Amino acid sequence: MTDVYFSSTYSEARHRFIEAAGALDAEIMSYGINCESQDELAIDVAVIGSDEVPAVVISSGVHGVEGFFGSAIQLALLEQLRDSTSALGIRYVLLHGVNPFGFAHLRRFNEDNVDLNRNFHSSVDQFRGSPAEYAGLNRFLNPESPPSRFEPFKLKALWNIWQNGLSALKESVAGGQHDYPRGLFFAGLGPCKSTQVVQENCDSWIGLSPRIMHVDFHSGLGPFATYKLLLTKGSDSIDCSWYADTFGAECVEQFSKPGGTAYKTSGLFGEWMQSHFNARDYRVVVAEFGTYGVIKVLGAIRGENRAHHYGSKNSASYRSTKKELLECFCPIDPSWRHQVVESGLRIIAQSANAI
Ligand SMILES: [Zn+2]
Repeated sequence: MTDVYFSSTYSEARHRFIEAAGALDAEIMSYGINCESQDELAIDVAVIGSDEVPAVVISSGVHGVEGFFGSAIQLALLEQLRDSTSALGIRYVLLHGVNPFGFAHLRRFNEDNVDLNRNFHSSVDQFRGSPAEYAGLNRFLNPESPPSRFEPFKLKALWNIWQNGLSALKESVAGGQHDYPRGLFFAGLGPCKSTQVVQENCDSWIGLSPRIMHVDFHSGLGPFATYKLLLTKGSDSIDCSWYADTFGAECVEQFSKPGGTAYKTSGLFGEWMQSHFNARDYRVVVAEFGTYGVIKVLGAIRGENRAHHYGSKNSASYRSTKKELLECFCPIDPSWRHQVVESGLRIIAQSANAI
């Protein structure tokens, strides 16, 4: 059963990852985030294979709590590689828990309340501004009080969707903002610790690989247990047909397709990697796995953020917002878990075959 790959805490996931990578004689590097007295919070990187062959990069937990599912796929892959008898013609670079604070504390955001996948800007000028509509939505999105069980969140969300349209709401809300440090989708005022770790060390992880295929695993958008591979801005039409041939046209989608799975964003991790390695053939997809509907997921992110900033850690409502967030990004349903691991392994195999 693929369910066995899912850990119940960050610490368990981390230790299983290191142990499984160690069994393969992988080169393992750990980068502490040092945001708490415990030194347990780290980005762990396992590299397997020579540094001159094509590389497949697999990253998990850029959005903290989504790491439970990304880590499960990485663990399943490590087991598969251990049992494989054929020689590796691929360099596997596994980035585990890119946002370890969010992973450990059941948050989508990091120790600075930052959405890491909006924090990878290439210049300091980009760390400012917010979508025009965000100010008007701020009170709805970020109430400055603990969560309340009796609040008609769904009605408020539907009212906003009726007024603005779902795509406009998704874009204005989730595209990233730099003006509300306690608000949802805050993109930060400069590169966060995790961003710096990636920027300072990615050259050594990739080595001399001439061709790279990077799969960044995410969850929480789209229909239950299905997935879309979202292409970044850097993909032209020739690239698009390569992705469609490699992964199946029905699985591939432009990141900002109107009415599509995702929404316009900047500061994406994968996009930064692609531009950093622009002298090489660096391809990247955001592998987005669906869970529940947009309103339920947004409600869970909002509730947890509220509890994080204004709630008491010992309260039942604090714990229930964490539980709800985890369910929205890594459902407990065994069939969801089975399907996402199977699909994740298939995407990785397709990447390794094509690169
Ligand atoms: Zn995500």
